[in-house]
Amino acid sequence: MAGTDMSEGLSEGQSLCEGQSLPPGPQGPLRPVVVQDASDGRVLMVAYADAEALRRSRDSGQAWFWSRSRRQYWRKGDTSGNVLAVEELREDCDGDAILMRVRPAGPACHTGSRSCFAPWLWRRVAERAKERPPGSYVSGLLEQGPAACGRKVAEEAVEAALAAAGESDQRLIEEVADLWFHSYVLLAARGLDPDAVEAELRRRAR
Ligand SMILES: [Zn+2]
Repeated sequence: MAGTDMSEGLSEGQSLCEGQSLPPGPQGPLRPVVVQDASDGRVLMVAYADAEALRRSRDSGQAWFWSRSRRQYWRKGDTSGNVLAVEELREDCDGDAILMRVRPAGPACHTGSRSCFAPWLWRRVAERAKERPPGSYVSGLLEQGPAACGRKVAEEAVEAALAAAGESDQRLIEEVADLWFHSYVLLAARGLDPDAVEAELRRRAR
């Protein structure tokens, strides 16, 4: 899957190991802030903050960052309404990174996914569910509602079972891809996030 390629977005000659030093913010060095949901430890997003952004987060109790592209401070949720209530700010051992534990008011990722680190396929489906672009296959399915999405899941499950019984590995991969994809669409149709499914599986494994 192209979206899981770790090198995506890096230009030629760069590698993940060559980390470039960050330009400073207006109020001192920029530090990466790992934003974690205080309820279950899920990493929601990563952003950057200088001393002023951290001061604003501390004083307001809501997450503030420095935008490197727009060169300005921004309060998470200003446009989406999905603010992050800050529970705790922690520095790492050498003080060059911050852990921010939060209670999110909604999805942290611009795609509509709870986490920026959710599986690629889910971020795609969540983005379609949020934007509803006309003519998109996901938009069309979502318009028909959860029951119709559920029927697609049943259909694809039968096709996967038939492939398992007597077709090639490639055919099985294709049918399981359809099954996973439609399962995600079904979750989106009910306004659920796959994190809830994972939490249920973890609960059972205990
Ligand atoms: Zn994101």
